[in-house]
Amino acid sequence: MTGSSPDSGNTATALFEPSPEFRADANAGPELQEAADKDRLAFWADQAARLHWHEPWSEVLDWSGGAAGAEPAERPSYVAKWFVGGQLNVAYNCVDRHVLDGHGDQVAIHFEGEPGDSRNITYSELLAEVSQAANYLTEIGLEAGDRVAIYMPMIPEAIISMLACARLGLTHSVVFAGFSPSALRQRVDDAEARLVITTDGQWRRGKAAPLKEAVDEALYANGGTPHSVEHVLVVRRTNLEIEWTDGRDVWWHETVAKASTEHEAQPFDAEHPLFILYTSGTTGKPKGIVHTTGGYLTQASYTHHNVFDHKAGKDVYWCTADIGWVTGHTYIVYGPLSNRTTQVVYEGTPNSPDEHRHWNIVEKYGVSIYYTAPTLIRTFMKWGRQIPQAHDLSSIRVLGSVGEPINPEAWRWYREVIGANKAPIVDTWWQTETGAIMISPLPGVTATKPGAAMAPLPGISVKIVDDEGNDVTDSEKEADFSVRSAGSAHVGYLVLDQPWPAMLRGIWGDMERYKATYWEKFAEQGWYFAGDGARYDEDGALWVLGRVDDVMNVSGHRISTSEVESALVGHSGVAEAAVVGASDETTGQGIVAFVILKGSTENTGDALVTELKAHVSKDISPIAKPREIHIVPELPKTRSGKIMRRLLRDVAEGRELGDTSTLVDPKVFEDIRAAR
Ligand code: ATP
Ligand code: MG
Repeated sequence: MTGSSPDSGNTATALFEPSPEFRADANAGPELQEAADKDRLAFWADQAARLHWHEPWSEVLDWSGGAAGAEPAERPSYVAKWFVGGQLNVAYNCVDRHVLDGHGDQVAIHFEGEPGDSRNITYSELLAEVSQAANYLTEIGLEAGDRVAIYMPMIPEAIISMLACARLGLTHSVVFAGFSPSALRQRVDDAEARLVITTDGQWRRGKAAPLKEAVDEALYANGGTPHSVEHVLVVRRTNLEIEWTDGRDVWWHETVAKASTEHEAQPFDAEHPLFILYTSGTTGKPKGIVHTTGGYLTQASYTHHNVFDHKAGKDVYWCTADIGWVTGHTYIVYGPLSNRTTQVVYEGTPNSPDEHRHWNIVEKYGVSIYYTAPTLIRTFMKWGRQIPQAHDLSSIRVLGSVGEPINPEAWRWYREVIGANKAPIVDTWWQTETGAIMISPLPGVTATKPGAAMAPLPGISVKIVDDEGNDVTDSEKEADFSVRSAGSAHVGYLVLDQPWPAMLRGIWGDMERYKATYWEKFAEQGWYFAGDGARYDEDGALWVLGRVDDVMNVSGHRISTSEVESALVGHSGVAEAAVVGASDETTGQGIVAFVILKGSTENTGDALVTELKAHVSKDISPIAKPREIHIVPELPKTRSGKIMRRLLRDVAEGRELGDTSTLVDPKVFEDIRAAR
C-alpha cells in the first residue's frame, strides 16, 4: 500500500457504522440478503408484490435468451423477460393507487421554480393532471407503442407527460432540454417520435432562454425533410415569443388543461416498452437504451425503498438530477412515486440566485433524503462550507451519491458538512443500462468506507474478473489494473453474471450493437460487461474505479484516472480535476491533468504545478505522477455532470474535438485551450 494521505482511499480507513437508532428503524435489515441468498427469484417475486398487478405473472424470469454462445451467429438475443404474462399499469402504480388508498391529500411534488415561484401538487391533483394529459394524447390519435419525445425543463408538466405516456403505453424518450437542435433531431428520428412535448422557454440563471425555437430548428433541419412528428405540444413557462406552425403546434393550456380529469388506466404486459433513453455519450455516439415495465418498476421501487430508507408520508426526498438523465427517470419519477414519496422538484441551477439555493430549499421543506452527484459536492466544497453552515440542515438523515466514483475527500466533506457527521452516505453504482441501483450500501446495514460503493444489493449478483473471466478474488488471477491497488487488492472488470429485473432489453433499432457492446466480451460465460473497472479491498469492500477505457497505461502500468483525480482533489488547493492518458513516445501513455483551483488558493502557477506533481507521486506512486498539469477555469461536462475525458484526450493530443453534442457548454474549450 502506498496511500499516505488520510483521504487517499487507503483501505485501512475506519468504517462508518450505522447508528443503533438508524439500524433499529431501517427499512432494510440483514434478512434481505438472507432471503435473496436463499432463493433469488422468489426474492424478486416478493419485491414485485410491492406493486399492483392487474394480472399476475406465470413465471418470474425467462432467461432462455441469455444462454452463453461462442459463435457470433449462434449468439442468443440476451433479452430477458421478467414477470412473464403479468400485466400492470405504471401510472396507476405511481399515482392512482395512492389516491385510492386514501392518500390523495399528500403532497407528491413540492415544485420550486428557478425565478422563485412554487407550487405544491397533491397525489389527487397529480392524478387529475395525468388523466387530462392521457385524455388529450388519446384524442390526437396516439396509441400504445407509439413514441413521444419529451424536451422540457424540470417542471411538473415534464413528470406529468412521462406518467401520461406510461399510462397509455406510449414509449417516451426524454431528451435533455440543454441539448442542441441536432441532438434532439437525431433522437427524434432514431425513435420516430410522433409527438414532441416542450415549453416555450426555460429559466436558466435568472434569464428566460428559448426552447421551442430549438424544436423548430430540429424539425426543419435539412430543409424540412419529412419526419415522423405530427404534433408539438407546448407548455407555457416563460412567456417568450415563439414561432407557431398552425395545425402542428398546440398549447398545453388550450388542450390538456381543458381535457377531462377522468381516465381509466389500462394494464400492459410486463415487457411492454416503457421508455427509451439515450446514454450520456461519454464514450461516443449515444445508445438508445430500451426499458420495459414490470421488472423495471419492481427494481426502481425496491431500491428506492431500501437504499434511501424512504418512509412514505414522513420523509421529504430530493434527488437533484434532471429527468433527462436516467437518475431522473428512476429516482424522481418511477421509484419515488411508486413508493408514495413527497419530493422536491427544483427547476434551476444551484447558484441561482446565489450559492445558498439548495440549502434554502432543504430548510424550506425539511428535506430528509438528499441524492446528488460528486461533481456538485465538489462544487459545494469549492464555494466553501460557510454556505451550507449558514443553514439548518438538521432534517437531513440520508445522503446519496451517483454518477461517478466519489473521491474520499468529497465523501468525508459531504458526511461532515451536509450530514452533520451522522447521516449515512449511500454511494450508488448503476447505469442507464441497469435501470436502477445495483451496488450500494444499505444505510441501516452496511458499515461504509469513504469512496467505496461497498457491495451489490440483495438480489443482485456481480463479479470482478480478469480478461479471461477468472474471478479476481482467486488472488493468483489478479489483473494489475491500477498501481494503488497492486499487491493489496483484487482488480478487474465489473460484470453482472445474473440477469436483474430492471436490465435493459436492448438498444433501440440496433440489437447487433446491443450484443456487441454488452455481451461479446464475456460471450462464453454469458455475462453482462458493464464497461467499468472495480476492485475488492482486503476487507472485501467493492470500489468502482470508473470506465475501463479511462484506464491509462503508463510504461505498462495500468492506472485509473479516478485514482489520480482523487489524489489531486485531496490537495487543499484543488477543487476539481480531470485526468487523461495522452499518447507518449516513451511511456506509451503520459498522464495529463486539468485542474480547477479553489477560490481561496493563493499559490498558483509553476510552483503549484510542481507541488501537485509531487503530491500525486507521494500519494499514489511515482509512476502515477502527471506529465503535464494544466490549471483551467472549467471542465467539459455532460448535463449529468460527467467529465468528458475523451474530449480532453483530444485536446491533450492536439486533435480536432469529437462529438460535443451532449456537452453543457461546448465553449469551455476556448478557455481550456487558452490555459494550455
Ligand atoms: P455512455 O455509456 O454513453 O458513455 P455514461 O456511461 O456516462 O455514457 P450513464 O449510464 O449515465 O452514462 O452512466 C453510467 C456510468 O457512470 C457507469 O458505468 C460508471 O462509469 C459511472 N458511475 C455511475 N455511478 C457511479 C458510482 N456510484 N461510482 C462509480 N461510477 C459510477
Ligand atoms: Mg455507459
